[in-house]
Amino acid sequence: MTQIMTAENVHLYYGKKEALHGFDIGFDENQITALIGPSGCGKSTFLRCLNRMNDLIENVTITGSFKLQGEDIYSPRMDVVKLRKEVGMVFQQPNPFPLSVYDNIAFGLKLKGIKDKQVIDQIVEESLRKAAVWDEVKDNLKKDALAFSGGQQQRICIARVLAVQPKVILMDEPTSALDPVSNAKIEDTLVELKKDYTIIIVTHNMQQASRISDNTAFFLNGDLIESGKTKELFLTP
Ligand code: ADP
Ligand code: ADP
Repeated sequence: MTQIMTAENVHLYYGKKEALHGFDIGFDENQITALIGPSGCGKSTFLRCLNRMNDLIENVTITGSFKLQGEDIYSPRMDVVKLRKEVGMVFQQPNPFPLSVYDNIAFGLKLKGIKDKQVIDQIVEESLRKAAVWDEVKDNLKKDALAFSGGQQQRICIARVLAVQPKVILMDEPTSALDPVSNAKIEDTLVELKKDYTIIIVTHNMQQASRISDNTAFFLNGDLIESGKTKELFLTP
């Protein structure tokens, strides 16, 4: 199994306080890896290392080696804007832009310099289909994304990430703010998406981890304490 991302000897400090204590982890391509552990153990902090979102927080010091397909993502040569497209992020609270559904998806495409309306239309549809929300929004593409339900907004946010062709999708408790039906829809969608993408999902929900993930990594107090195949780790006698 190819590892698309690796992180080695990961240490992270918020000011002088060490939040990640030095561990190694790798992520298999086209698999779902769940990061689980109690609140405050460093899951989100670690996730934000993988697309350099921590760069946006003051006083953060990160050491270690982080690679995407062998390339050092903290190298001075790294194009961080491009990295954040290749390693996209979906948050706990759905956060569509206050724009139409269509413009939420088209926004990133226009930034990429894609101008052809036909091409944009096609990517908008394809991304919304892959995120399993097309049928629910196709007649209202010009409607404000914020007018849709939380579950629909979250799938619009997933489509927005897909539109810019990520290799890896980071998800920080993407369903914990949603109702059970939306949760189930998103879980089904993620299992479909792993054919084309690698997914790393933070969850505090063990059942969710055991339902959808191939690999699970357990965090405790800023350390990775155990990781491996979900089937083996969750083995019930
Ligand atoms: P989890 O995602 O597992 O709930 P976090 O990564 O959010 O854990 O937090 C890990 C630790 O780092 C906690 O002690 C938290 O309070 C601290 N922390 C998180 N973000 C910041 C920040 N921006 N500044 C200072 N400390 C932070
Ligand atoms: P999570 O839902 O991942 O556990 P939290 O609710 O702990 O995250 O934190 C929400 C936001 O507050 C995050 O952006 C995190 O970086 C920031 N944060 C968390 N703990 C601290 C802290 N001790 N000091 C400053 N910012 C923090």
